[in-house]
Amino acid sequence: MYSRIGKGCEDMPYVAFRDNMKEQKIESKNTTIADVKRVFYCKTSDCQARMTLVNGADSARAFFRRMPSSPRHISNLCSADGYFDTTEYEEEKFDFSAIFSSIIKTSNSPNGKISTNRAVNGGGGKKAISTLLQIYLMCRKHSCYNNHCTDDILVDERNFERYKDGIVGQKIVQCTTYHKIKGEHSHKMNYPSFPYEDGKHIKLNFSSDELFWHFYNKFKDTNHKELIIVLGDWRESNEEDNGIMAECTIYKKRQIHFIKSDST
Ligand SMILES: [Zn+2]
Repeated sequence: MYSRIGKGCEDMPYVAFRDNMKEQKIESKNTTIADVKRVFYCKTSDCQARMTLVNGADSARAFFRRMPSSPRHISNLCSADGYFDTTEYEEEKFDFSAIFSSIIKTSNSPNGKISTNRAVNGGGGKKAISTLLQIYLMCRKHSCYNNHCTDDILVDERNFERYKDGIVGQKIVQCTTYHKIKGEHSHKMNYPSFPYEDGKHIKLNFSSDELFWHFYNKFKDTNHKELIIVLGDWRESNEEDNGIMAECTIYKKRQIHFIKSDST
């Protein structure tokens, strides 16, 4: 039975309950046509939101969505899964390190031109995942994708136990804003969200003052609750005294994305 959000890896994506008591868990990919008009209940304990099934009986595209008449979700994590349509993308073309390079290292090309996504999107057929948001949504849905273990890519509330003491390497980290660090053009964030029991702090550095102020102004509007995803090459922080366990540097606007959440 589902215990509470943020503990362990029980929080499978695209999950809801059939019953009000939250005992009969159901994954959207296992639904049938008979489930299409039924009412389901949000995966989060204590959340009153009622859900409806979209694309029922279509295992690649099915998901749950809050009914317009339902109470709001109690947590921004309730709707963090977003929606990823697996059928729109060619799984075999997914290459995380190629996307990472195309987002972060574009300006490093010798002639100064913005490089294209050709390496990522090569070949015919359907398109490949190419943006930060697409990777995030894919990772919220699939535990394995084109031989990538998505647990190694996305750091969020579902693998908090694994990453709460350190985040190292090329990863996407889900967080919310906390505050500007005094005397620096850097920003402290809450991992994996706020409020969150025993949540951690991480730090964003910026390669230019312009980038810092761009995001500082955007962070101000998030009310500390909006989920933010950050693509970075993470390293151990030397500011553990300040409660910061990892940090990275932002070189490009495309490294940060704000997730619009369906919560209060
Ligand atoms: Zn909810």
